[in-house]
Amino acid sequence: MSDAASLRNSAFPLIFAAPSGAGKTSIAQALRERREDVVFSVSATTRPARAYEQEGVHYFFRTEEEFRRMIAEGQLLEWAEVHGNLYGTPRWNLEAASASRKHLILDIDVQGSRLVRLAVPDAVSVFVLPPSGAELTRRLVGRASEALEARTRRLQAARHEIAAAAEFDYVIVNDDLETSVGAVEAILNAESTRTKRLAALPELVDRLCDEVDQYLAVEQGKPAQ
Ligand code: ADP
Ligand code: 5GP
Repeated sequence: MSDAASLRNSAFPLIFAAPSGAGKTSIAQALRERREDVVFSVSATTRPARAYEQEGVHYFFRTEEEFRRMIAEGQLLEWAEVHGNLYGTPRWNLEAASASRKHLILDIDVQGSRLVRLAVPDAVSVFVLPPSGAELTRRLVGRASEALEARTRRLQAARHEIAAAAEFDYVIVNDDLETSVGAVEAILNAESTRTKRLAALPELVDRLCDEVDQYLAVEQGKPAQ
């Protein structure tokens, strides 16, 4: 392992929030395909599965009774009611990511983001904005995953979510997907080198100073040229 890699403390979680349709799932998916140091947080939800969604891959689909049992048993790091359904982050996601030293990517709503930031101060939060209201609507319609009523509900919620953008550490306007993924990679890379995250920095600094001292001693012991 290089000095730079061994300096790093455990990998920090990355929270993504956005109004529905802004593109956070697309960004998270692209990130997962190109980096091995990230792992997606699979949430539990009472929402019915979309045609393409698989149990344990996109969500853990639960009945409301099962979901409430998870809450009662303290299995969820956070949970919230979003668009009329319950969603929550299982604690084991964080534990597993931490054990494998990977960044846990959480695609959660604004309420959940607040709770995770409180519970895990190490987390970095990113808010994804659509380039315009018209484009947000176009993407929601294009995704064709919701009936008109559900889509209207999501657009109404979008107004409230957008108003919370300034609470986040970073804001990305998802115009071009490739540019947005690059911006998130830049955030991950820069945050990984933050001084406060480098647990082994004092030892490395001591060792480098010792090494420089040894060279200085040799230099000073040499006859002047
Ligand atoms: P969210 O997870 O925020 O609800 P999705 O990632 O599901 O949003 O994206 C909503 C729709 O918009 C999808 O059909 C997706 O392919 C599309 N989309 C995402 N990002 C972009 C982009 N930068 N440009 C055009 N379409 C996009
Ligand atoms: P969707 O139904 O489109 O998959 O997700 C709807 C909303 O629920 C999105 O804003 C998504 O980020 C949010 N969400 C998904 N999982 C969780 C979770 O575990 N906790 C919270 N608080 N929100 C979630």
